[in-house]
Amino acid sequence: ALAVNGSTKIMGVIGDPIAQVMTPTTINPIFAARGANIVCVPLHIDARELDTAWAGLKALRNLIGFGITLPHKQAALALCDSLDPLAKRVGAVNLVRREADGTFRGYQFDGKGFVRGLKAQGHTLSGSHCLMVGAGGAAIAIAFALAEEGAASLTIANRTRTKAEELADAVNRAMGRSFARAGDPRPTPGEIIINATSLGLSASDPLPIDASLVDETMLVAEVIAKPEVTPLLQAAHARGARVHSGIHMIRGQVDLIAAHIAEVQTDS
Ligand code: NDP
Repeated sequence: ALAVNGSTKIMGVIGDPIAQVMTPTTINPIFAARGANIVCVPLHIDARELDTAWAGLKALRNLIGFGITLPHKQAALALCDSLDPLAKRVGAVNLVRREADGTFRGYQFDGKGFVRGLKAQGHTLSGSHCLMVGAGGAAIAIAFALAEEGAASLTIANRTRTKAEELADAVNRAMGRSFARAGDPRPTPGEIIINATSLGLSASDPLPIDASLVDETMLVAEVIAKPEVTPLLQAAHARGARVHSGIHMIRGQVDLIAAHIAEVQTDS
């Protein structure tokens, strides 16, 4: 059982809406297992009040950091006192940690979480050919992580095509190899298909790809964790493909985040 006392440190998770966040549920048992006197709580912050809330978070001396979800990941970049190089490269922050000197530093764990989640389920990325739909914050983080993991190629399909082109260029430049290209959301046999858009959050959303092109040679992976099985995963499963829920992307990073945030001990 969670035992909160006067010495308990607080980790927040900020977002709007907030009720769907899974960080408290997933990370509190990890803090407990580590014997860390830290509790993670959801903090509902409207985008228009982020600046005000940020100053308040800074003033809470026993707050050791906070996770960040929609819509604050990009806005947080400018508010952090410093940025980890990966957060800067991705252009989005998903964890802020209060460093020993009291400053707020921004970090990015989404890409690592996605890759670790796949590996934990026994999937291999090295040498794989990937098709990713989306070019927003989650997609950018995943694209760099796939390149670093040694995937052979990445086709990026996005509604706004220029964003897919920009992302492919940025990844190729950073990796010094011709790895990514912008393309159509058309799956080909043997590929790992990744939905990195927000399509599927709502039951009325269209599917991000033409599911009739999915076959049993493919692995279809989601970033969306709620619902755990999206309509895309249902359709892919029905066509014999292996499927991978967005929940694994969260599980893949939560232990890293717990260790990272518990590392700094600040005075309160
Ligand atoms: P962004 O707003 O940065 O990007 C959204 C992406 O979805 C863009 O590529 C956008 O295309 C596309 N998109 C949105 N609506 C439509 C539509 N109607 N038709 C076609 N494309 C559409 O969001 P994030 O990248 O931060 O988040 C995306 C998803 O990833 C969310 O569902 C989020 O919950 C999930 N996520 C999951 C994590 C996990 O650990 N499981 C971690 C982080 C995010 P365009 O560029 O054309 O607008």
